[in-house]
Parts: sequence; C-alpha cells; structure tokens
Amino acid sequence: MGQINLSEKQILLNTINSQIKTCENCKLSLTRQHALTGEGNINARIMFIALSPGTKEDTANKMFIGPSGKVFNRLLQAAQIERESVFMTNLIKCTLPKNRKPKQKEIESCSYILDEEIKIIKPEIIVPLGYYASRSILTKYKANASELGMSFKDINGQLLFLNGMKIFPITHPSALLYNPSFEPQTIEYYVKLKSLL
Ligand code: SF4
Repeated sequence: MGQINLSEKQILLNTINSQIKTCENCKLSLTRQHALTGEGNINARIMFIALSPGTKEDTANKMFIGPSGKVFNRLLQAAQIERESVFMTNLIKCTLPKNRKPKQKEIESCSYILDEEIKIIKPEIIVPLGYYASRSILTKYKANASELGMSFKDINGQLLFLNGMKIFPITHPSALLYNPSFEPQTIEYYVKLKSLL
C-alpha cells in the first residue's frame, strides 16, 4: 500500500476538524446532529463563510446541499467559479434550531474555530455571506466604527481591505430563496469576485 503523505496544511485542518466534530462549547451542541467542518479546496484563494448549517446540511453532515446550496451552485456556475476550487465554511458550525437568529454568545463561542480555519487556509479573499458573517468578519479584521456602522446593503458586493485581508461581503444564498429578484445583482457580485482573482 502506498504511503499517504499529508501536507502540513491538511494535518492542521484535520486537527481542527476533529475539534469541531466533538465541540460542546455552546448549547447548540445539544440540538445538532452534526457539527459541520469546512469543505473544499485547502489551497483555495476564496473562502466563503455562510451562517450555519441548514436542516438538510445538519442531517447529511455536508455543506450547501439543501435549497440554499442549489442557489449557491447556480451563482458559482453563472460566474464560472468551480465549487471544487473554493473553500466553504460556516460562521457557526452547528445548526440553529428552526433557523432562528444566532446569539452573539454563540458566534463568540464558535469564533476560535473560524480563526483557525482562516489561519490554515490562508485565503486571498474572504467572502462572508449575509449580515451576520459579514459583521463578524469585519469585527475580526478590526473595521472602524463607521465601517461597522454601515448597513449590509452598503457593503454588499463591495471589496474592503482590512488589516491586510480582502473582504468581499455578498448576500447569503438563502436570501434569494425569499427574494428571487436579488439574483441578477448577486450574480454580478459573483462575476466581480471572479475578476478579483
Ligand atoms: S456552534 Fe460552534 S461553539 Fe457551539 S457547539 Fe457547535 S462547534 Fe462548538
């Protein structure tokens, strides 16, 4: 049998993934089926950060396979971005019961994992999807008060440079399920994202 040669990056990712799977840092561990690890290309230039696993994702232990995932795939396809070329993860690794809003305490409890994932993957561009992921990433990269005070609509599809990181917030794919009229604009943002590489 050939020897398996794991890169240092993969070893670090495996370590954090094991921590995610058994994490009980907040009460969401009591209601989840699976704590989802990030997925995708470990050498990705783009890292997408969604909010949290949906019901289907929680059951199947896979990212973006439910209705939002279908929208996400469509957006990637429209911009000719290969899903296999990007890395995807969640701000909160365990599902939010009945898709409720996240509590600040839950975001903070899970934050150390996202920090590690970013450190390991080293993306060129971070794409937080939707309000909560964007606000958390802006806070993490020490956005100033006026940047933090901006509404999501003001930063949606805008490239921000914060502490050496390119951050490109985009509407969460789930928002398009409720507002299909957002789709053409969102496709434009994905095309812009591709052109930034
Ligand atoms: S949401 Fe995050 S911090 Fe809370 S139990 Fe799940 S993995 Fe741990």
